[in-house]
Amino acid sequence: MDFTKPLKITVFGAGVTATAVRKAITRFPHLQEVATDEHPEIGILSPGLVTADYQAKYTFPLISEIELADHLIKSTGKTPTYLVVSGTNGKTTTTHLLGHFLDAALAGNIGIPLIDYATPDASKIPDVFALEMSSYQIEQSPTFTPHGYILTNITEDHLDRHGTMAHYAELKIILATRQSAKHCFVYNSDDDWTRKALQPFPPLRPTTIDFLSERERYVAEIADSPLLGEHNVHNLLAALTMATWFRPASYLNKINTIKAVPHRLEPVRLLNDITYINDSKGTNPDSTLAALRSVDPQSVLLLLGGRRKQASYEPLFAVIRNDQVRVIGFGEDGPFFEEHLATSTAWLGLTETMTQAIHLAHNNAHAGDIVLLSPSCASFDEFHNFEERGNVFRDVVSTLST
Ligand code: ADP
Repeated sequence: MDFTKPLKITVFGAGVTATAVRKAITRFPHLQEVATDEHPEIGILSPGLVTADYQAKYTFPLISEIELADHLIKSTGKTPTYLVVSGTNGKTTTTHLLGHFLDAALAGNIGIPLIDYATPDASKIPDVFALEMSSYQIEQSPTFTPHGYILTNITEDHLDRHGTMAHYAELKIILATRQSAKHCFVYNSDDDWTRKALQPFPPLRPTTIDFLSERERYVAEIADSPLLGEHNVHNLLAALTMATWFRPASYLNKINTIKAVPHRLEPVRLLNDITYINDSKGTNPDSTLAALRSVDPQSVLLLLGGRRKQASYEPLFAVIRNDQVRVIGFGEDGPFFEEHLATSTAWLGLTETMTQAIHLAHNNAHAGDIVLLSPSCASFDEFHNFEERGNVFRDVVSTLST
């Protein structure tokens, strides 16, 4: 398909992505938005839309805003470098770190559609992108090939949409299989599903680096990093490895200006020597495990609740029981957590809402404790999204007094 020629496009959806695509279409005079019955040559899906449902209904190609943006940007003569981050957990943090080290433009699943940067004036398009891609966006991007690709890890998530782990893992690997010898793939050798998913493919062509093997090289950076937790050491190593491949330099002087990304193990208040941490992005059991490993679990009062994921909670429950983590359940699946944890842990109680859970935690916490919102669930029973849940947590915590 020639993206420099007139093109009729149907845009599906009405959210952030679809709105950004519609705006981009108006910036390129040769593009025209049409309805599905006006013979579109291509359709643009938002990541939330189920690709297979649309493929069953329409015969024209269906692609992501990222794939479209890539073609439109190329049509201006500009060839930026795309450094992509994907994986089940750690995408946003790693993308932020990469952007910070390289002064790259942030884009993609991080909340700024890539298409926002697509404009006919090539001089306005950034040279380097740190681009976060979800598995949905990869699924909808049949040719997009990153120059650098970081795969943080692959664990159970989104199985409701992708069906099997094998299919989900294959989507995460596919970008690396498209890369050539002038590209770079950074991965985690300790990750079972990454290793398994790589097996059926012939040896990869890009420079392939296991970020865990780079640990010794970045001892000083790790020591100086303000981010909590071993998982953030992984994110830091992955970002440093990619940044160094792309632009060999020392990034040590950039470490002390790293900021916690909102809603990811973000300390929001210290009150009476009690630390309140917003990890609203901890929407699955693995993230909550990562959060518990980042602090002393015995000082934690953990707020668990919302709408639970189709994933195994047993490994998380085992750690909670073993370390006698104090837990408060809330929201739609609060009773699920009560059922599994109430008899065997330092269960503090069940509340209907997150705000009530915060107050219960506040009433039970002592000096040195950590009140941790890492709910291990989606937020949709009570909030629009995890950002809103984290903002409410921050607001309620700011109103607490002695
Ligand atoms: P994503 O964008 O992939 O959802 P984030 O960087 O937003 O990832 O982090 C979300 C949550 O996932 C964090 O709050 C943390 O609990 C957990 N997490 C972050 N990085 C990792 C990692 N490398 N390995 C395991 N869990 C992680």
